[in-house]
Amino acid sequence: MHTKKAIIIGSGIAGLATAIRIRNQGFEVAVYESNMYPGGKLTELDQQGYRFDCGPSLFTMPQFIENLFIESGRSIKDYFQYSKKEVICNYFYEDGTRFTAFADIDKFAKEATSVFDTDMKSIQKYLKKSKSKYDLTSSLFLENSLHKLSTYLTTDTIKAIANLASLDLNKSLHEFNSGVFEDSRLVQFFDRFATYNGSSPYLTPGIMSMIPHLEQGYGTFFPKGGMYSITRSLYQLAIDLGVTFHFETKVDQILVRHKRALGVRIGDLVKESDLVVSNMDIVPTYKKLLPDQKAPKKVLSQNRSSSALIFYWGIRKEFPEMDLHNIFFSKNYKEEFEYIFDKKQVFDDPTVYINISSKNEKADAPDGCENWFVMINVPGNEGQEWDEILRTAKENILKKVSRLLHVDIEPLIETEEILDPRSIESKTQSFQGSLYGSSSNNKYAAFLRHPNFSRKIQNLYFCGGSVHPGGGIPLCLLSGKIVSELVKKDFT
Ligand SMILES: Cc1cc2nc3c(=O)[nH]c(=O)nc-3n(C[C@H](O)[C@H](O)[C@H](O)COP(=O)(O)OP(=O)(O)OC[C@H]3O[C@@H](n4cnc5c(N)ncnc54)[C@H](O)[C@@H]3O)c2cc1C
Repeated sequence: MHTKKAIIIGSGIAGLATAIRIRNQGFEVAVYESNMYPGGKLTELDQQGYRFDCGPSLFTMPQFIENLFIESGRSIKDYFQYSKKEVICNYFYEDGTRFTAFADIDKFAKEATSVFDTDMKSIQKYLKKSKSKYDLTSSLFLENSLHKLSTYLTTDTIKAIANLASLDLNKSLHEFNSGVFEDSRLVQFFDRFATYNGSSPYLTPGIMSMIPHLEQGYGTFFPKGGMYSITRSLYQLAIDLGVTFHFETKVDQILVRHKRALGVRIGDLVKESDLVVSNMDIVPTYKKLLPDQKAPKKVLSQNRSSSALIFYWGIRKEFPEMDLHNIFFSKNYKEEFEYIFDKKQVFDDPTVYINISSKNEKADAPDGCENWFVMINVPGNEGQEWDEILRTAKENILKKVSRLLHVDIEPLIETEEILDPRSIESKTQSFQGSLYGSSSNNKYAAFLRHPNFSRKIQNLYFCGGSVHPGGGIPLCLLSGKIVSELVKKDFT
């Protein structure tokens, strides 16, 4: 019997996870990657003695990574180590309020009651509801294919449907939070979880109040060696299992005959396989790799999630009030999201995210210096004047952070590198440079994401942030799991 062959297009985090799982089923697996390196958005940058994680900085649900090692029969300790963070994030408000979000729930609630106008009971009740929303829906919306009848016949799904009214699908996250808390600073704090999947709290439904449970219930973590070690360790695991990688190799077409995927075309070269998995964003997958196939227009025309503008600054001096993760909130959150999603005019007081991995990993910056990842959310790339936006954004960020930290930041910057929606798009093929595929700005969003398989073409599958269950490291890893389960069913 011949060994079945699988081709994976792209080595993003979902492509790596899928490669590992399908290899474990006995397939011969080849990954084709257009970049010189694995990881897609999850990469790193070395510059003049500084090391930066280029993409994700927040790491939740490490069990999804653990599972890959367990299922591969390898010890995770030989590849990947991580620790739980005690402080999840520091928040800075324009009115001078500072809030430290502790991982420990009692400490978190105590700190919240001392900073905001609220009480322990309200906070605890909110987090309890956050957990129950997650527990009710994770099996239906995250862990299985939403597009197979079998998913709807489980007791978990029946339970979720019976409790539909408690999921707050008919109000926005902001409306839900405003109904619970009176202090607008606390509402802004809980509203901000919409940005976890690149959505607006004014549009995304109240069910998203489940997201704080990921931080408070499960915790946030930081990998030894930085976020990039997630990519490095999964890449190494894949190699050790016998997956082959071909870098600087762009796939030009998915070959289809008689409604069945037969392999891929790379320039003039044909590579045959029994199945193909695309980890490329679903929009260019249809446009570029499947130009002769009918595309699901409604699915592909969904609004995209936010993109980002990031400055990587090597900077002198220690800022003791800042931990690894810091958020400097904008004064008018609503206007900021109108700018991002309704393409209103440039907003001059953006929320600024500053992540400093050298607080944990001293090797990430020279002595007496720090590596700042400075990000603001922006709309996707539709040909805006990005150079001009970059210039004004930098000015506004410097003013804002200098004002809130009472230090003139600009003279302290030693090195700078920039990533913007254009370069996110060109480096990863992510349509419009969106960070998380389509946005969750309406209550049907989960159902309108592309399935993890093709309804029209046999043996063609999709993984990654632009398809079910969505973007972000944990969901991308789950997409790999769902694909491998579909493959198992289809091939045994
Ligand atoms: C700045 C930033 C901050 C973020 N912050 C967080 C965070 O804090 N926490 C979190 O969980 N997530 C975060 N994310 C989102 C997270 O990075 C993504 O959801 C995730 O990494 C996407 O992985 P993916 O598997 O979909 O593939 P991608 O990372 O998009 O990679 C796709 C890969 O496919 C390759 N490819 C595409 N087309 C072809 C082709 N035709 N031939 C060959 N190769 C091809 C690309 O080169 C690329 O390597 C962030 C993202 C960014 C950019």
